[in-house]
Amino acid sequence: MDEHEKRRVGEQIEPGGRPKAPGRLELLQRFLNSYNHDFPREWDRIGTPERAQSWLRQKRLVAPGDRISEADVGRLRELREAIRALAIANQGVQPGAAATDVVREAARTARLRVAIDDVGRTALEPEPRGVDGAVATLIGVLHEAQLTGEWPRLKGCRQCGYAFFDRSKNRSATWCAMSICGNRTKNRAYYRRRRSPTR
Ligand SMILES: [Zn+2]
Repeated sequence: MDEHEKRRVGEQIEPGGRPKAPGRLELLQRFLNSYNHDFPREWDRIGTPERAQSWLRQKRLVAPGDRISEADVGRLRELREAIRALAIANQGVQPGAAATDVVREAARTARLRVAIDDVGRTALEPEPRGVDGAVATLIGVLHEAQLTGEWPRLKGCRQCGYAFFDRSKNRSATWCAMSICGNRTKNRAYYRRRRSPTR
């Protein structure tokens, strides 16, 4: 994968060609994948107020006039990493208390109401606009995905934290793409074995 392609990972490109998460969960998946720890920091799509504003606008999470501050960026990134920790915990491990605390705190101030459309369908809608509304929407998606049972399939890669949707029957997928992280893990184990003294 060249740099141009790597920069598209998480938006236009999914590692291993996996389909994205279904329905609204795709938005939360894209949020988690707005940054990957294997890539340079400046590639973070919400890493500065300008970048965050353009990403959130593109996703219709904020209105054109909404301003994003440095503090907002810090808050969004903290929430992203906390929800990523929950997604990694979907691999069958316990999430850390710090992660659940961050998500709980975000949920405490997230105001959502049930909206009804013309044919009677319901949807959770954020009450405030701006970054508060964006946070509320993302928390709402997390909640909905837990109701539909889709949430446990959104997993953080054990190697790089990339959020992928596990469609396998027995929910056994561990890495974002076997060809990238799976092999990297195996290679590391291989070199470890080679380095360890033989008797
Ligand atoms: Zn990975």
